[in-house]
Amino acid sequence: MKISGQLTLHDLPRVCPLLCRQTNPRFGDFQTREVAVGEVRFGTGRPVVIAGPCAVESHDQTLAVARAVKRAGADMLRGGAYKPRTSPHEFQGTGVEGLCILRIAREETGLPIVTEVMDTRLVEQVAEYADMLQIGSRNMQNYPLLAEVGRAGKPVLLKRGMAASLAEWLGAAEYIAKQGNLDIVLCERGIKAFAAGEYSRFMLDLNVVPAVLANTFLPVIVDPSHATGVASMVEPASRAALEFGSHGVMIEVADFGLGRPRCDADQAISGETLARIVRFADRYYERSVMEHAA
Ligand code: PEP
Ligand code: MN
Repeated sequence: MKISGQLTLHDLPRVCPLLCRQTNPRFGDFQTREVAVGEVRFGTGRPVVIAGPCAVESHDQTLAVARAVKRAGADMLRGGAYKPRTSPHEFQGTGVEGLCILRIAREETGLPIVTEVMDTRLVEQVAEYADMLQIGSRNMQNYPLLAEVGRAGKPVLLKRGMAASLAEWLGAAEYIAKQGNLDIVLCERGIKAFAAGEYSRFMLDLNVVPAVLANTFLPVIVDPSHATGVASMVEPASRAALEFGSHGVMIEVADFGLGRPRCDADQAISGETLARIVRFADRYYERSVMEHAA
């Protein structure tokens, strides 16, 4: 029986010829194409740690978290100015004011900024402020948005759709690549699967990390915060992600001294926990370099 639209990893040369290993032999079986965001390098060298608040709520909250992120030794600052919320009655982010706050945080800390863009009409605006544009899970298959972001001239962090297969995810990345932008970093953030929602927010699909590495030359990172939804799971999930070959992690951090965050409070970790994750990433990298040399 033939089924319309059925897709397997064997179809990748047709689905994403610009990005899959089979059609890009110059990257061999293992090589990753480096993506640079300012001084930060994804895919080669040290794992990249991105951290910051879920949402940019205010100047004081964002600056406090940004300082904690910098102190912890992380590489980049995250924070949503435009938030994709399940209900339209929930806090939607602070918009352009949030982008201005992120710019101030970058000026003070020197950390490059990644922030989400949800609307084709706002790509130009967000690209003016961000060092890297984030496509969220809910928009992974928003094809006009992917094309617009591909034309914006900025590196892109493409989160996996919460119900997307690897082939669908790479097909989405191909929309960005087709505009001439190969500076794409993939981000696994948990999927809807059997047990998701019962004892964790989603199912963290670490198995996909080696599969990504085997099928494309793009770097891949893991978001343990949205994947688990539980602060105490974020540190072990980060370590596990690195063990699975992830090129980095993206983590939500909060300063509860300034009040409870308006979104995703239960998955936010402290600056101290973040510092431990950064130390683990550094040691993990040093160890793997030494093992490689031996
Ligand atoms: C986020 O990282 O801010 C976010 C909303 O995550 P996701 O799109 O993975 O749900
Ligand atoms: Mn969040």
